Amino acid sequence: MSPEPYAFLGGKQIPLSEAKVGVMTHALHYGTAVFEGVRGNWSEKHGKMYVFRLREHYERLLRGSSILKIDLPYSVDDLIQITRDLVERNGYRQDVYIRPLAFKSAQLVANLKLHEVESDFTLMVQPFGAYIENDGAIRCQTSSWRRPDDTMIPTGVKLSGLYTTGILAKTEAVMAGFDEAIVLNHDGTVSEGTGENLFMVRDGVLHTPSETDNCLLGITRACVIELAQKEFGLQVVERRMHRSELYLADEVFLTGTAAHLTAVGELDNRKIGTGEMGPIAQKLQDMYFDIVVGNNPKYMHWLDEMTPGGG
Ligand code: PMP
Repeated sequence: MSPEPYAFLGGKQIPLSEAKVGVMTHALHYGTAVFEGVRGNWSEKHGKMYVFRLREHYERLLRGSSILKIDLPYSVDDLIQITRDLVERNGYRQDVYIRPLAFKSAQLVANLKLHEVESDFTLMVQPFGAYIENDGAIRCQTSSWRRPDDTMIPTGVKLSGLYTTGILAKTEAVMAGFDEAIVLNHDGTVSEGTGENLFMVRDGVLHTPSETDNCLLGITRACVIELAQKEFGLQVVERRMHRSELYLADEVFLTGTAAHLTAVGELDNRKIGTGEMGPIAQKLQDMYFDIVVGNNPKYMHWLDEMTPGGG
């Protein structure tokens, strides 16, 4: 591991302790930034860091950047190379969280526009363990906060400003003694968790809110849909879902880069199914955990293999 962690800012690698922005930064005041959360999964067995679906994360970052008129001088391939260089230099031999952020870097306040406002890109890597501390199924609460509608702020990409709502919801749930919040749309239908997409199992069929239900177009969600259909022959229905359907489901689980695949055992103090992780969540989780550490040869194309200290 390098003695001091490095970050990427202003087009180059610099020590993390020197990677700073000014108090007048547009993004700091207005949330005019778009970010990603990517996981690097360390395999002791292979001595490699496997970064999960890096290309898909950067494609989503660039879609968000285009909405915010953030013109980065980097292609997806450039961003992958920048990430490889930083991960290898920092040299962690444990799971990491990789955080790219494209932001309006201009030192400009009292300026409510996106055009003619300078942008930059920064990247950091930090050691990362479990996101939700719970070995089994988690306890969730339906949030009193609603997911913003796409008519209010674009919801399919990770815009920084959008996250205030999720943070309010998560804070409310955790301070009330729950592990996570389930957030509804303005009309009371189900959207997602605060940092995860949601699936429900009923009679062996998977159901998940659709693209037009204001949820993030999650990369783990897409992987789980693909595995469910291709590997287990399961039917997956993307549709609008009522809140009370979750109470009656056989299984509910959440998917996301940070949370992986996490079963929900209880919602609003009502048990879901047996209250434990159900069989479908379990088999999808088993396969997913094998894939992310490079143990499934069929899905190596989902991973970028990196070597601490350089390859
Ligand atoms: N919804 C929200 C609001 C999120 O922040 C995340 C995490 N990125 C997800 C869903 C899951 O998306 P992904 O699987 O791409 O991490």
